[in-house]
Amino acid sequence: MEKSTGMILAHAGEEYDQYYNAIVPPIFMNSLNIFPTVDAYYDSDKRDRHTYCYGRVQNPTVRILEEKINELEKGAETYVFSSGMAAATAAVLSACKSGGHVVCVRTAYGPLKDFLQNYCREHMNIRTTLIDGDDPMEMEEALTEETQLLVLESPSSVVFHVQDIERAAEAAHKKGALVYIDNTFCTPIYQNPIEMGADFVMHTASKYLGGHSDLIGGSLTVKDPALGKKVRIMREQLGSIIGPMEGWLMMRGLRTLEVRVKEHAKTALAIAQYLEGHTKVRKVYYTGLASHPQRELIIKQQSGHTGLLSFELESTTEQAKTFCQALKIFKIGVSWGGYESLVTMPYARETEENARKMGAGQNVIRIHCGLEGTKALMDDLEQAFQKVFR
Ligand SMILES: *Cc1c(COP(=O)(O)O)cnc(C)c1O
Repeated sequence: MEKSTGMILAHAGEEYDQYYNAIVPPIFMNSLNIFPTVDAYYDSDKRDRHTYCYGRVQNPTVRILEEKINELEKGAETYVFSSGMAAATAAVLSACKSGGHVVCVRTAYGPLKDFLQNYCREHMNIRTTLIDGDDPMEMEEALTEETQLLVLESPSSVVFHVQDIERAAEAAHKKGALVYIDNTFCTPIYQNPIEMGADFVMHTASKYLGGHSDLIGGSLTVKDPALGKKVRIMREQLGSIIGPMEGWLMMRGLRTLEVRVKEHAKTALAIAQYLEGHTKVRKVYYTGLASHPQRELIIKQQSGHTGLLSFELESTTEQAKTFCQALKIFKIGVSWGGYESLVTMPYARETEENARKMGAGQNVIRIHCGLEGTKALMDDLEQAFQKVFR
């Protein structure tokens, strides 16, 4: 019997008889484990999944979580970190050597680009080439014999463009480079990049995996066990494992991942269509819309969509700010992926020229559609339109 996603979320990695048949595993809030003999302690690195030694290396609660994500992403190994950035930087440090070269999509997460362009350049002499990522030819041209890592984020904020993961992986592997992808937007429910050739799949848990806006964490899944060993050692040496409490909360969030993301996506599609039909909206950016310019590729590699979308009003940036401030249910705040609806203006402090380079105007508004109900959210948007355009 093939395991359903729901079965993985509910039961994978769990061994009830290891903890008094409790249906929910405990939070193993311990920093160390003890051994019956001196030799058993020294042999602890020949560990199987029941041998634990020290909490910076591994923790039984975290291990269960990792097995769930690993099965969902169809990887060889998964490690959970104290944040998405801890997972991302561990991937870069596992893949890259000094003097190397990285190709990275321009829309990748800002702090990761900063790490590549500042720390890695200054301290490791690693060059980074930024690309748009939409055009496979541009990507193939950017990859060289020196390239060690290709960094993707598909889809990526703010305008939700996608990259052809399979084609990108083929091109990168031809040059001997590894492929990293931030899969946070799709979650493992809607996209499994390892099946398309990716070597590293990263998620940040403050978004959908956690789902309740109450934790910081990240995961890194690898296709190849040898790479997994490097990642495990990196996490151990940088000391970036997630804490047991956050790990447990993340596991609790994960159990409802599938039902939550479907609801977020259903609401987001209805709202994207409503906005697309609105006379005061210039443009809507959402992977679920039939009008998305990369529709064919999206259907090929994603089985669903995020609850995030962006749009530009027929308005000035100041009017767009007034619109955001007029919303009552959508709260102004960064991050997303929790139960609650949020709104931001990611380019409000950019020049119009810079904003356009990143794909939208300075007035672009990004919303996360939460679980408050589609009608309530639409009514909220409608009353904000009334306030700005009356
Ligand atoms: C939030 C976010 C991150 C960063 O994750 P942290 O857990 O905050 O380090 C990375 N990528 C994407 C797409 C994000 O939205």
